[in-house]
Amino acid sequence: MPMNEWLEILLAIDNAETYINELTNERYLSKLKEIGMSFDESTVVNFQNTKEKLLKKLPSDLKREYLRLMKKYKDDLIPRAIVPAREERGEGYCVGCSNRIPAEVFQRVKNHLSVDRCENCARFIFWPPLP
Ligand SMILES: [Zn+2]
Repeated sequence: MPMNEWLEILLAIDNAETYINELTNERYLSKLKEIGMSFDESTVVNFQNTKEKLLKKLPSDLKREYLRLMKKYKDDLIPRAIVPAREERGEGYCVGCSNRIPAEVFQRVKNHLSVDRCENCARFIFWPPLP
């Protein structure tokens, strides 16, 4: 499978994870209630099923690392295991921790040639304009 397909799966898992975290967060739920919004319990179950299904598609090492990172960053300001890179004056930075990404790694990320990780926070990095 081409590298960018792994990234797409990781991103889809991370999105499901984010919804699960939001829809099981008491503070978030009470805010929704305040503005008259509610959702069905099955919404969370659907996201959980989606996440499990996608996790099964990943090679075991990627799956293990994803789960490890998600656990580590669950309560972080940026509660994600996969984050975009941003560019500033030709240099790449990790959005998860603001660390600079080495030029050769940034080039690979931009070209969607590999599944790279931040040297500092270890999160998976992707370049937002996906091919
Ligand atoms: Zn980082």
